[in-house]
Amino acid sequence: MFCVHCGKELSDEAVICPACGIPTGKMNVKATHGSETNVLAVVGFILSFFISLAGLICSIIGYKKAPEYGGNGKGLALAGIIISAVEIGIEVFSAIFLPLLVFIIFGSAGVV
Ligand SMILES: [Zn+2]
Repeated sequence: MFCVHCGKELSDEAVICPACGIPTGKMNVKATHGSETNVLAVVGFILSFFISLAGLICSIIGYKKAPEYGGNGKGLALAGIIISAVEIGIEVFSAIFLPLLVFIIFGSAGVV
């Protein structure tokens, strides 16, 4: 085969062109065969612990893309979605209901 970028003749096993460093497309072929890591699922899972919304988005995309990776990262993405959703639920609860609860408690006590 030949490099799509510079046209140099390459060995069939070459993943990156030795002349210009451009991927030969072998990695894309590998991905469709399911041997590559579902990066978004992994990133989404990690992010879900720190930035729940970003983790949720990455996990959803990672979950949807899992079939392209032969199912790789599907469980991880699902875990990321659940963790993020629970965190967002807690955050929404804290932001809306907690001040309301405090208001009701202090209000009934005659403080507010
Ligand atoms: Zn090249």
